[in-house]
Amino acid sequence: MRRRINTLIISAVATLVALVGIQAYLIYNSYELEKDAFLTETRNAVGRLDDEAQLIVETTDLWGQEFTELLWKYRFEGLGKERFFSELKEGGTSVSKEFNRLYQEELKKSDLGYEMKFKRNIYSIIIIDSIANDTLLHLNEDNPLFVLGEDFEEEEGYDVSQARWQTDYTQKNESGDEKTFEFRVLTRDKMSISEWERIVLGRMALLLTGSIVLLVFVMALFYHSIKSLIKQKKVTDVKTDFINNITHELKTPLATLSIASKSLKNKEIIASAEAFQNTLQILDRQNTRLQKLIDQVMSNSLGSESLVLNKEQIMDTVYFKNLLDDFTLSVQSKDLRIIRQIEPEEVVLRIDTFMFTTALLNILENTIKYGKENVSIGVATHLKNNVYEIQIKDNGIGIPDKEQKLIFDKFYRVSDGNLHNVKGLGLGLYYTKQVIDAHSGAITVVSEKNKGTTFTIIIPVN
Ligand code: ADP
Repeated sequence: MRRRINTLIISAVATLVALVGIQAYLIYNSYELEKDAFLTETRNAVGRLDDEAQLIVETTDLWGQEFTELLWKYRFEGLGKERFFSELKEGGTSVSKEFNRLYQEELKKSDLGYEMKFKRNIYSIIIIDSIANDTLLHLNEDNPLFVLGEDFEEEEGYDVSQARWQTDYTQKNESGDEKTFEFRVLTRDKMSISEWERIVLGRMALLLTGSIVLLVFVMALFYHSIKSLIKQKKVTDVKTDFINNITHELKTPLATLSIASKSLKNKEIIASAEAFQNTLQILDRQNTRLQKLIDQVMSNSLGSESLVLNKEQIMDTVYFKNLLDDFTLSVQSKDLRIIRQIEPEEVVLRIDTFMFTTALLNILENTIKYGKENVSIGVATHLKNNVYEIQIKDNGIGIPDKEQKLIFDKFYRVSDGNLHNVKGLGLGLYYTKQVIDAHSGAITVVSEKNKGTTFTIIIPVN
């Protein structure tokens, strides 16, 4: 059963991990698709602006015109390379300002709904010549020349479009001669959307929240199922243990009763008044024992909330003296030492003395049942801030750490080593806890294996 539960837990965890992995993969794919769709949508919107917004088209054309004239001056009027580039920049910057203003205006008019920047880069400028081409510019992808729009870091940008144009241009020089030249240019338009991640994630919000909610739900379902399975197994174990224990407990008095009742038919016993009385006493004792066992099972079917307390006032010193004296008398077979440290100041306790005594006796009897050869018990009480504390400490076999919180459960018995020899139903401490709870108190245990156990009970006093 234990192995089956472990296999189940491992399978559940593995399934969950696989599920999370598949889900993460699907979400990542959707994210990439959503991002592509978003970029395409923006690209189309930018394309529409470039083609349809009249003022933008005119400004871009103006820039193209200025650029071509500058190139013509470089080719025919001795404009140096350095001057060509500085004037290209200057011209670009002045057109850029107007261009940016128009661009943002048109963007607002369009129903794009988010902010973006646009720029044009030049990668190469080559003047075509039949003898030798003149390469003015040849730049790589990462380091282009920005000429139009609003500049931003290359990594931030996404391509909008690329233009490779080769054309010839004719213009008259100062003396009225027409001069023509051919050139080839490579430009690329780019866009940058500062908040694209937020926008894409925003569009996926439903999917993300849905996935997380479903995943949490499935996890909770797994957790709940496994937890109830373990609980069920515990209950079954406990019931089996209880049936074994009660059968064992009932067998001895029944066997004795059977022998004793048979011997009552024996003529010798009938003849001797003393033997007859003895047998009757045995019958009586075993009967009482059976009755006590049944009572114990019956009384433990009640929870703390259904215990009806019959509280009375009693002085703590008197109460503990009677309790410990009676307990010492009842223990005859063991070498027992009780160290009493009862609160010197007299405190009036309001308790159901019968139930409270049974509760404490359960603990005291356990010190003998689970004690070693020489049993030494320390009983200490004291009052602090209207809380009365009772500590019962023994030098017995102790309780393993992981079992300590279970010993107050109904029918729970520590199944370890020689403990099988000790009789019990696993009801004593359960009953004790119910009684303490009904008195609005609390009980805790601290124990170390082979060293001993300390039970601490607190109850409020007014
Ligand atoms: P029972 O004694 O009938 O088994 P209890 O409810 O009184 O049932 O105790 C539950 C279990 O707690 C016991 O089976 C025993 O293993 C452990 N236990 C209780 N008191 C002590 C103690 N003083 N020292 C060691 N083990 C203890």
